[in-house]
Amino acid sequence: MTSTLTWALLGASDIAATRMIGVMKERGDTLAMVLSSSPDRGATFSGIHGIAASTTSLDEALSPQVDAVYISTTNERHHEMALAAITAGKHVLCEKPLALTVQDAQQMIDAAHNAGVVLATNHHLPGSPLHSRTRDLVSRGAIGDLLAARVMHAVTLPERLRGWRVDADDDAGGGVIMDITCHDASVLNPLFGGLPDVVTAIATKQAPWGRGGYDGVMTVLGYPSPDGKLRLAQTHDAFTITHDTTRLEVMGTSGLIRVTDAMTQDAAGRIEIVTEAGTETIVIDNSENLYRIVLDSFASAIEGTGSPTADGLDGLNALRVALAAVESARSGNSSVSIEHT
Ligand code: NDP
Repeated sequence: MTSTLTWALLGASDIAATRMIGVMKERGDTLAMVLSSSPDRGATFSGIHGIAASTTSLDEALSPQVDAVYISTTNERHHEMALAAITAGKHVLCEKPLALTVQDAQQMIDAAHNAGVVLATNHHLPGSPLHSRTRDLVSRGAIGDLLAARVMHAVTLPERLRGWRVDADDDAGGGVIMDITCHDASVLNPLFGGLPDVVTAIATKQAPWGRGGYDGVMTVLGYPSPDGKLRLAQTHDAFTITHDTTRLEVMGTSGLIRVTDAMTQDAAGRIEIVTEAGTETIVIDNSENLYRIVLDSFASAIEGTGSPTADGLDGLNALRVALAAVESARSGNSSVSIEHT
């Protein structure tokens, strides 16, 4: 058990209400403050969730009693809020995408490094036992040499979330690529051991709702391999698809790994591994809440005994993939390169 934290929640958001506050309380953390741009929404939110106070002042939210902030405002506000919190000496757990540009995300990482505070990204998937076990199987050579992977992550966006996500343009933080493709990248980058070299995407807008960014995208990523031949990954992300489930498939020279319910917010799913020996089902212990894993790893990074599920660089690298997909979809350029810095 890691030590408890005193939080300021920056943003009276759905994700804070539905996923994060419950696990913070379960950990025994203190919820000192919620920041909202609306005094009424902040007061209602703090009342419903048992948060000690609400404020519209960022300075007040960064009061001395606060150890860490959880930033879950809309995406274009993450950068400014994170820099203010870091300057005030607070540890930062920031929602994905970490920022809207590579430069802003890098500035956040540099600021946290210089201030000696922890910056983590709330990517809940890479810490899932399903994904850590899959990475372990691949690195142990259970399917031979890694060749390719496919992610199916096409969902129906719940009506209550059809606000800024579907009204803001892709480069203003809206659209399915910034929302879901960056989650896929948070899983694929560690699976393939780093950033892809090249990204291509075709995207569309199919729903009758929303004025903003793309709501369906298929993306192909070329990851480097030690023998110089590209390893391929493919993702399908959408807000508009009904009756599908999420999956991950990983192919190697001597086998295949299938992961069911691989990209959900609730810990679920199992792993099947298919080789010449037949099909083996690996039942995973899904008892731990994925956001609890993120919070505990964040707390252990603050203590100096562990590292975040996804740190700032992991968040930046997921963002780089999403930005390359947006650029490819917009420009029709079938080969957007990602510089490995
Ligand atoms: P919300 O729309 O619920 O909240 C975002 C902001 O919108 C809030 O900070 C709030 O501003 C404002 N807002 C909330 N309700 C209202 C309302 N009724 N009227 C007007 N404004 C309102 O966003 P989400 O919770 O869906 O997403 C927030 C962040 O979390 C995003 O960065 C998103 O990408 C990320 N996210 C991450 C997930 C994950 O699994 N890691 C899953 C879902 C989202 P104010 O604070 O000023 O009151």
